[in-house]
Amino acid sequence: MTIAHTVSELIGNTPLLRLQKLDTGPCELLLKLENQNPGGSIKDRVALSMINEAERQGRLAPGGTIIEATAGNTGLGLALIAAQKGYQLILVVPDKMSREKIYHLRALGAQVRLTRSDVNKGHPAYYQDYAKRLAQETPGAFYIDQFNNPANPLAHETTTAPELYAQAEGKIDAIVVGVGSGGTLGGLQAWFRQHSPETEFILADPAGSILADEVEQGSHGEAGSWRVEGIGEDFIPPLARLDGVRRAYRISDAQAFDTARQLLKTEGILAGSSTGTLLAAALRYCRAQTTPKRVVTFACDSGNKYLSKMFNDDWLRQQGLLQRPSTGDLRDFIA
Ligand code: PMP
Repeated sequence: MTIAHTVSELIGNTPLLRLQKLDTGPCELLLKLENQNPGGSIKDRVALSMINEAERQGRLAPGGTIIEATAGNTGLGLALIAAQKGYQLILVVPDKMSREKIYHLRALGAQVRLTRSDVNKGHPAYYQDYAKRLAQETPGAFYIDQFNNPANPLAHETTTAPELYAQAEGKIDAIVVGVGSGGTLGGLQAWFRQHSPETEFILADPAGSILADEVEQGSHGEAGSWRVEGIGEDFIPPLARLDGVRRAYRISDAQAFDTARQLLKTEGILAGSSTGTLLAAALRYCRAQTTPKRVVTFACDSGNKYLSKMFNDDWLRQQGLLQRPSTGDLRDFIA
């Protein structure tokens, strides 16, 4: 394809980059650059799939209203496609999310309703409960419900997984993923179970999320809080298929931010905070191996949304994550 006719055609078929400069132990570490999707994240694939499926099922009429609860990236994907196809879009977004994401959503024509980040599922202000209620109250609205929508993992089962496998020439020993809605993990596992059952799945989880506990112990306590955006949960997302995950790594915000910054400095990839979590876990996994393995992880979204946050030394200092004045060399304050 040389000339695309809609921006939707530019979603997917993202490049796969072999990391060269970071210490990957005996392993080859490949990064799938989902930050290169037109909306800037892996969620473009899912947004397209869920809108297409709703149209196919006759649940979305021309000019109709789409409602979703989203940390931002699904919203950006939905806003991109809704604008192309002429749908109204209302997004309920927790207020901890970066301003850049919210301005971007509004610029795409979406209506953004901010809600509290400090409440859990079951509270009326919790972003998913709020969106569900809004959808019930809005006549003719279609609630995307990415946490329960089978077209979410389906996007990864039908596009991300086979692309990755073909790019890696049919040899992938392990895939390191994070879980937000669980669509990526669930969809990839569905495909790999069929076509490459020996591929292991490894969870990268922000410290404070309950998902790593669930993988390791089959149970979990109360969730804490974390600043990494897009992954980690305080409940078990039904689409995630956590039972297929071999092991989990808990990554602190400081480690995630530091790793994302190292990725930019060493390999030239500007990716977001969840990528920092995934990459930190992938590096830990790689360095713990005794035999060479081919490992894949994802640059889930672009880092330009976080320039005023984790790429900003003043913000890191305010968050207590940068202890002394920066000399410009991150290794100074990690040590
Ligand atoms: N990274 C980022 C930046 C995200 O926004 C999301 C989605 N919330 C994910 C990773 C996780 O993807 P999934 O919803 O497929 O679990």
